[in-house]
Amino acid sequence: MSKHSTVLPFAFLLSLLGAAPSANAAGLKVVTSTEDLASLAREIGGDKISVEAIARGYQDPHFVEAKPSFILKLHSADLLIVVGRDLEIGWLPPLLQQSRNTKVQPGSPGYLDASLTVEILDIPQGQITRAMGDVHPFGNPHYWLDPGNGRRIALAIQTKLSELQPADAAYFAGRFADFDKRLAAAEKGWDAALAPFKGTKIVTYHRSWPNFVERFGLDVIGYVEPKPGIPPSPQHTIGLIGEMKKLKVGVILVEPYFDLKTPQSVARETGAKVLVMAPSVGAEKEITDYIQLFDHDVNQLVAALKGGAR
Ligand SMILES: [Zn+2]
Repeated sequence: MSKHSTVLPFAFLLSLLGAAPSANAAGLKVVTSTEDLASLAREIGGDKISVEAIARGYQDPHFVEAKPSFILKLHSADLLIVVGRDLEIGWLPPLLQQSRNTKVQPGSPGYLDASLTVEILDIPQGQITRAMGDVHPFGNPHYWLDPGNGRRIALAIQTKLSELQPADAAYFAGRFADFDKRLAAAEKGWDAALAPFKGTKIVTYHRSWPNFVERFGLDVIGYVEPKPGIPPSPQHTIGLIGEMKKLKVGVILVEPYFDLKTPQSVARETGAKVLVMAPSVGAEKEITDYIQLFDHDVNQLVAALKGGAR
């Protein structure tokens, strides 16, 4: 995608739509910033809504390249659901502005910040400075990686959909109850699978997994990034290798959109295993919904930890 594609005139974008946006054939048109939120919206909305995600699950959600098609999606949306906590600050606000859709602007009834009712970790204390790197000032935005938060997001979506489409409120409530039950059953399996590895020390590339590790009792002792959003530096990497050897860390979790060069050289030095874990629905083709995301990650992690990982 070339850069200039983002400055297409709005009139041209509208002409791509053909006729004016048609009336709600499938109920509310829901657009989400990520595929995780799209999956949760589908769980609740079923066939009473249509859902489209903007970012793909294999992309870095901090940096998503703007495409004219995103503006079109936003233009005809009835509801926009975002991760919030500034995760999308680098790319979503200009798209939203260019969509000229008053229904889904922040503060409008058609704008849902999914982070408002979840458990947020890493809320920085005191003043944030440039020197701290790309710190998320409102806390860690990777909160969907705790299934408890997935349930809270689903509930917020149920409430919002019922407000916007009250005739289907009972349907949405039924869908939530069903999802809640399936998620609870799946959680039992994930907890049991990871129970033998409580307290295991791991390293991750970015600070994407605090909610995941807190939920499942793992211990992150360091990061490949010296600071959030700052690429690896030789000095930091040497320190990390020393720490990992001392603490016998056997696994390095890497998000699929980061360069594997540094993690692999750290792995060579320490004997640890590099594990590319899926941070989102859609990160791998077979991960098509929220419950599958955890099935995939828990299986992958257990296999690596069982292998002794060293
Ligand atoms: Zn982040």
